[in-house]
Amino acid sequence: MIRITVVGAAGRMGRQVCQAILDEDGLSLVGAVDVAQKGKSLQQIAGLPCKLNITDNLEECLKQSKAEVMVDFTHHTAAMNNIRTAASSKVSVVVGTTGLTEDDLKEIGELAKQNNVGAIVAPNFALGAVLMMVFAKQAAKYFKNLEIIELHHEKKIDAPSGTALKTAQDIADVYKDIKDRGEGSQSLSGVRGGKIGGVRIHSIRLPGLVAHQEVIFGHQGQTLTIRHDSSDRTSFMPGVVMAIKTVQERKGKLVYGLEKLLDL
Ligand code: NAD
Repeated sequence: MIRITVVGAAGRMGRQVCQAILDEDGLSLVGAVDVAQKGKSLQQIAGLPCKLNITDNLEECLKQSKAEVMVDFTHHTAAMNNIRTAASSKVSVVVGTTGLTEDDLKEIGELAKQNNVGAIVAPNFALGAVLMMVFAKQAAKYFKNLEIIELHHEKKIDAPSGTALKTAQDIADVYKDIKDRGEGSQSLSGVRGGKIGGVRIHSIRLPGLVAHQEVIFGHQGQTLTIRHDSSDRTSFMPGVVMAIKTVQERKGKLVYGLEKLLDL
């Protein structure tokens, strides 16, 4: 049994992760950490068949529960401290929190090496979203004009989404000849979106949405749209479970992106 502590356990993703761990053979939920809902049980806050109480002391929780893996779905301002605490407690980490910087990722790699723990960070744990990124990168070899529209629920804090950033960055890293059609003459500031290496990103936040992305390629006489929709947070769970099951086999380094766990 792999012993897991979930941080952000009272949040939307955290509750779902706790449920997925409880449902999966070979996984054992031993800790639930959150700065909110302290002292309440997972049964009380999420109706889960589990009497674990939420604590706000991660270090103590990891120690007492003898956790082997920490899963973090919190906030970009909180995740790095949680990761430092886990790594120094020799606990491997699976991180879904978005909004981490290049420097953060570098530090996670160093922490994994120094403490000989595994670290998997994925801005999107939905298999379909990962395939969308892979297919977009393939299409960019031939189609040099593209823009990204990402659409998320109104409570998402960071913009653009980690998935949109990674899609744009992956393409920009490989193809230096992507054509940006420029700002044009704008009567409304920001209307052409933000830009990474020639790839424009437009962020939409609305109630009723979960997580969606379109990569639109324009070419002579044709367009190609590659779109992924997560209509439910359960879409992320097979990827999270896969990462939990394999993270301890990858001690000493950072794995960034779910695609690295797949046979593509
Ligand atoms: P949420 O606001 O519902 O939940 C976040 C939880 O973290 C809250 O309960 C909050 O109290 C808790 N928290 C904040 N700081 C903390 C700290 N220092 N220690 C412990 N707990 C702390 O948000 P959410 O919708 O569940 O999203 C969480 C994160 O996951 C966001 O960064 C979001 O973008 C990301 N996300 C990633 C994926 C993916 O596939 N990688 C999918 C969806 C969401």
